[in-house]
Amino acid sequence: NIVTRFAPSPTGFLHIGGARTALYNWLFARHHGGKFLLRIEDTDRKRSTDEAISAILSGMEWLGLNWDGAAVSQFERSNRHRTVAEEMLAKGKAYKCFATPDELAALREDARANGTQFRGDIWRDRQDEAPVDTPFSIRIKMPRDGSVTIEDQVQGSVTVQNNELDDMILLRSDGNPTYMLAVVVDDYDMGVTHVIRGDDHLNNAFRQIQIYKAMGWPEPIYAHIPLIHGPDGKKLSKRHGALGVDAYANMGFLPEAMRNYLLRLGWSHGDDEIITTEQAISWFNLENIGQSPSRFDFDKIDHLNNHYMRQLRGEDLLALIKDNLENSLQRPINTEEAARIVKALPALSERAKRLDDLLEGASLFCNTRPLTMTDKASEQLTSDIRVSLGTVAKNLAALPVWNGADIKSAIMKFAEANDMKIGKIMQPIRAAVTGGKQSGDLVETLEILGQSEAVERLQDQAT
Ligand code: GLU
Repeated sequence: NIVTRFAPSPTGFLHIGGARTALYNWLFARHHGGKFLLRIEDTDRKRSTDEAISAILSGMEWLGLNWDGAAVSQFERSNRHRTVAEEMLAKGKAYKCFATPDELAALREDARANGTQFRGDIWRDRQDEAPVDTPFSIRIKMPRDGSVTIEDQVQGSVTVQNNELDDMILLRSDGNPTYMLAVVVDDYDMGVTHVIRGDDHLNNAFRQIQIYKAMGWPEPIYAHIPLIHGPDGKKLSKRHGALGVDAYANMGFLPEAMRNYLLRLGWSHGDDEIITTEQAISWFNLENIGQSPSRFDFDKIDHLNNHYMRQLRGEDLLALIKDNLENSLQRPINTEEAARIVKALPALSERAKRLDDLLEGASLFCNTRPLTMTDKASEQLTSDIRVSLGTVAKNLAALPVWNGADIKSAIMKFAEANDMKIGKIMQPIRAAVTGGKQSGDLVETLEILGQSEAVERLQDQAT
C-alpha cells in the first residue's frame, strides 16, 4: 500500500515549489488509493514559527490537498529519534564523537586546503578512549567501501561512492536529533513508501539511505523533482512568482486553476494543458515528471484561471467575490443586487483572468446611484444627448414587459424616429448606466439591472 508525505519546514509561507511537491505526493497517493501524510519538520526551533505552520495548513486546505490522519510534528517525536540514535550506537553502526567545534572547524579547513573529503571521523576508531562525563554527539559510521545507487523515479539511476560521504551527526551533543536522522526515522515510522520531493534533497538521500541500511529498514522509492525556475531560466524569485499560496488566493486565482497549473509545471500528459483534478488523479504517475527545471509563467496561470472561472455558475462566482465586493462597497449587498450579479457573472467571467477582474463589472449591478462618472463617460453626455436620454428613459419606463428584445427595439425605435445611428444613442446609454465602467453587452446589462434601476440611471443623466 502506497504512502506518501509532504514534509515542509515551517520557516516561511507555503511557496509555489512546496505546493507543487505537496500536490504530486497527494496525486500519487490518491491515484493509488494510498495515504498522503503531512509532517511538519519543526525541529529547527529557532526558525520554525506558528505563523508558518498555519500558513502551510491553510495553503494546503485552500488547494484542496487533504491529508490523512493528523499532521505530525517532527519536534514532538525527538525522543523516538534519540532512541534510534542510541540503537545505532548499540549496534555499532554509530559512535560517540567528543570532538570540539574548534577541532572540527580545523579538520574542515584541512580538508578544504588539501582537497580531501571531510569525514568528521576522528573518534571513529577510538571509542575505548572515550572520556567520562563529557558531552558527545553521535555520528553514523559510514561504510568506506562500495557505493550507493538510487534508482530515482525522475533522475534515473544515480550512484555515489560511499567514501564521499562524511560520518554525519545523528544526535547533537545537546541531545537534539539532526534533520537527517529525524527524516528517516519519521518516514520509516509513518510507513512512507515513496519520497517525492525537490531535487535539492537528492544529495541527502545518499546519506539517509545509510541510516535505513544501518537499521535494516526497507528503503523508500525516491522521486526527486527538478526545481522551478523563473521565466528567464534563473532561480525563482519573488518577482517571478515565488510567493506564498495565500498570495495567489488573494490575487484571485481559483484552487482548481492553481492545481492544474502546478501539475503541468513539471508533469505532462501528452499535449494536454487543461487537466481537471479528477483526470489528474487518474493519470498521475512518476514517469511523466520532467527531468529539466520548469519555468514559471504567469500568463499560463491567468489562462487556466479564466478557463476554470468560466466553468463556475454565477452563484459560485458570487460566493468567491462577495467579501471583496462588500469591502469595496463598504456594505453588505442585498438580495436584489445579489440576484442581478449572479445573472451577470457568467458573461463577465468570459473576459476575466482573475476573480478580482469581476469586481468592477459586478459592482455595476449594485444600487449605487447616482453613479460616479468617468471623464470619458461625462464627455459623451452633451446637452442634446441628455435630452435624448430623457426620452429613452420615458420609452423604456413605458415597456410593459422587461426583456432584451423589447429593450432593444425600444432603443432602435428611438434612433429611427430621431434619424440617429444606433451607436450614437447606445454609447451615451452605456455611459449613463455604467458610469463608464467596464461592462458587457449593453442590452443584457439593462435587462439584468431591471426596469426601475435602468430607467432611474438614465433619468439621473437626463435633462
Ligand atoms: N523539510 C524539508 C524541506 O522543507 C523536506 C524534507 C523531505 O522532503 O525529505 O525542504
